[in-house]
Amino acid sequence: MASSLQTLVKILRLEQEKDYQNTAVIGGFARFAFHWAKEAHSQARSDEHHALVDLIADKLREYETADSARRAELVQDVIGLAGGQPAPAAPERPIREDIPEVSTVEPVGEVVDLTLEGVAEDEAETEPDVESSELDSDDFLAFVPSVAVEAPVPLSVRERRGYAHKPPTPADAHLLDRLQAPLTEVSGIGTTRAEQLEKLGARTVYDLLRLFPRRYDDFSRMKLIKDLTPGEEITVIGTLSGVEVKRTSNGGTRVEALLDDGSAALKLNWFNQPWMEKQLEKDEHYVVSGKVDQYLGRLVMNSPEVEPLEREALHAGRIVPVYSLTKGISARQMRRLMKGVLDEWALHLPDQLPLETRERGDLMDYDDAIVQAHFPDTWDDMLSALHRLAFDELIVLHLAMLQRRYQWQSRSGTPLPVDESWTNAFIDSLPFALTDAQRRAIRAIQSDMAQDIPMNRLLQGDVGSGKTIVAALAMGAAIENGMQAALMAPTSILAEQHYANISGTLARSPLGEGVRVALLTGHISQGERDAIYTGLADGSIHAVIGTHALIQEGVSFHNLGLAVIDEQHRFGVLQRGFLRGKADGRNPHLLVMTATPIPRTLALTVHADLDLTVIDEMPPGRQPVSTRVLQPKERERAYSFIRSQVQKGRQAYVICPLVEDSDKTEARSAIAEHTRLQNDVFPELRLGLLHGRLSAAEKEDVMERFYRGEIDVLVSTTVIEVGIDVPNATTILIENAPRFGLAQLHQLRGRVGRGEHESYCLLLSDRPFLDVHEDERLAILEQTNDGFKLAEKDWELRGAGDLLGTQQSGFGRIDLANLMDSKLVAQVQEEAHRIYERDPLLTDPEHILLARSVSALSHEFGDVS
Ligand code: ADP
Ligand code: MG
Repeated sequence: MASSLQTLVKILRLEQEKDYQNTAVIGGFARFAFHWAKEAHSQARSDEHHALVDLIADKLREYETADSARRAELVQDVIGLAGGQPAPAAPERPIREDIPEVSTVEPVGEVVDLTLEGVAEDEAETEPDVESSELDSDDFLAFVPSVAVEAPVPLSVRERRGYAHKPPTPADAHLLDRLQAPLTEVSGIGTTRAEQLEKLGARTVYDLLRLFPRRYDDFSRMKLIKDLTPGEEITVIGTLSGVEVKRTSNGGTRVEALLDDGSAALKLNWFNQPWMEKQLEKDEHYVVSGKVDQYLGRLVMNSPEVEPLEREALHAGRIVPVYSLTKGISARQMRRLMKGVLDEWALHLPDQLPLETRERGDLMDYDDAIVQAHFPDTWDDMLSALHRLAFDELIVLHLAMLQRRYQWQSRSGTPLPVDESWTNAFIDSLPFALTDAQRRAIRAIQSDMAQDIPMNRLLQGDVGSGKTIVAALAMGAAIENGMQAALMAPTSILAEQHYANISGTLARSPLGEGVRVALLTGHISQGERDAIYTGLADGSIHAVIGTHALIQEGVSFHNLGLAVIDEQHRFGVLQRGFLRGKADGRNPHLLVMTATPIPRTLALTVHADLDLTVIDEMPPGRQPVSTRVLQPKERERAYSFIRSQVQKGRQAYVICPLVEDSDKTEARSAIAEHTRLQNDVFPELRLGLLHGRLSAAEKEDVMERFYRGEIDVLVSTTVIEVGIDVPNATTILIENAPRFGLAQLHQLRGRVGRGEHESYCLLLSDRPFLDVHEDERLAILEQTNDGFKLAEKDWELRGAGDLLGTQQSGFGRIDLANLMDSKLVAQVQEEAHRIYERDPLLTDPEHILLARSVSALSHEFGDVS
């Protein structure tokens, strides 16, 4: 949570400096809010955190359409909420500049801008300005570089250096250390410049080399406006005429401009971004990038990115990097700076991958990749460079996971075998027949647990596939062997539910009534807690089910044989190790359960430390949940639908994102929504309210009444997201659905369709205009109930960033995770295994650099061993 908040504060400070133009993040704050909230939710550790994230996300969304005074206010608010010192709003003029700008700007006389190779700068500057009014098609051709001289192809670094790569050596490690030098050691970078670069995320030379562009403009291959076709994403250059702000029929604004390149004119629209008007000057030249749409037979671009044309870049006639900027650095300065740093440092970049791996994978050398990622010679080179960089990120992740597995499994554990008749008796005591997938999972787990190597198994199965019973059986096996078992769940509601469920199952099993199971959450009284601590330490308690409270200090086990972690996506990779650590030197078997539908290929990397079992079959009689995306005007219909379901004896959930009402946002808080629904919408029904601020007893009471059918409609925040199981609930209405991630919506949807009745998921949007992107995402939910298919689609649509949970590439930069397609992932896996088989701990000198990267990453994960 803290890291998302810190990132956010940094971004907002940047936005303050950029005068609230909604430019600190690519695509604007509304879209950013969506991704940020997703990440922050995944880091949130309490209901309060979740509520805070939602509150902040709302403000960020409001930011998009607010005027600049309101924007300043919003930024202050959010920084305050995020725990940053609310910085004073940027003054009109800087009061004092401590360090004169001149000392830092133009580095050295001899820096030749790569974009200008072959064209002397003076010539470029003296090129006569073509007045737009005089542009005709022929002038335009002179203006557009597609017919300009081909830029000379620079030698690759390797060619220039004149020798081929050697495998990495210890001396290279020393070179890498040098890259950790602060930026002020680079010629031409003074303290002011270094501070600016730090705002962009670079503190060391190494960081700067990896401060990749956010996109590239290909001035070597441009199109005339008259040749554009609808649907293509392209960059065009032209002159702006007629910038106007108009009112739209629904009370919003539309900034409208015409871009003319002499061949034809293209209409540009920006909806609800009135400030765009001030950024655009009539008769100036602009580079405009976006998707070409068609409206009433005319070509338009909606909300394109737009930047004043830099003649210099244009004249280069090549692919030019476009960097994220901050106050004080122009696009041109940034390019020069990068070019200078690359010239000085790229030659020193050793390659961490063994030569053999590079050759087999046909990978670009690392130093070339860094250079080409900044100044690609061709589009293909750029792709190869990014491919190489993505390869590295993945292989390091994979090797880190393999190494963790190696370390865990090199310790010995206690075998906990059970015989077949015991298992059969256990299964016979259940109220239902197990699915084949559940039986397979049980077999795999029991055979793991019978070994003296500790089990490391991930049990992955879509919501409702019946993982709990598999865990109960594994816990039973540990107890049968005279050892203790623990299960950790992410919320107290879920822990309570598991407790009721599993203690009942164990009591009915061959273990009999004598088995003692305890519930340990943060909410129980001091007295009870002490009793549980004692029981766990002396072994009189056989199994414990709880929340984070299980890994608190003070908890110690007599002999923990099995640790189970439920819904591990809510804990993160980090906590996997902790419960295990509670076994005091012994090595309990570990079972991790998740419903996060991560595509199998990717799972093999992200969970390479675990053996994977997938439950790919639902208990019989489950019906797919029908899902509909509804526009705001369809809300009444949704309510009548719920009413009719209740009349049939069913129950429903209404999910609201916030706990407390914030009048400034559209979000409907659970509290206000509960009152409103009870008074105005469903006066005849029995409504309940559930949110994270209720006391444990209140929550329990509400859930209890809902289970018993004494509540018809449960109005709730996302606290019910994981695990809650009430089979009679058949409808879930989700407010503000576009704000959620696909995986989260799928989890929420998993609350219904758990019994024999046909079930429904209604996704309501509060905004009449859905972002196309979101619309497409929600539509996928309508089309499939299969969490794995959803994850594959999410992967396709949004890249692997969300799925990996390691968004290292940062905001406003080329996202390497987007390049991690299944082919690359499979290729990396193969190579990682080759390396691992030969040298699991990466002690071979050839792997010295890889070992460094792996240990840096493991450190980030908080691995202690
Ligand atoms: P999840 O995998 O999401 O944790 P649960 O373990 O909560 O799923 O199971 C969902 C529901 O299905 C529970 O009510 C459980 O009792 C029931 N269930 C599990 N396995 C079976 C089965 N083989 N047949 C019928 N119902 C089952
Ligand atoms: Mg579950």
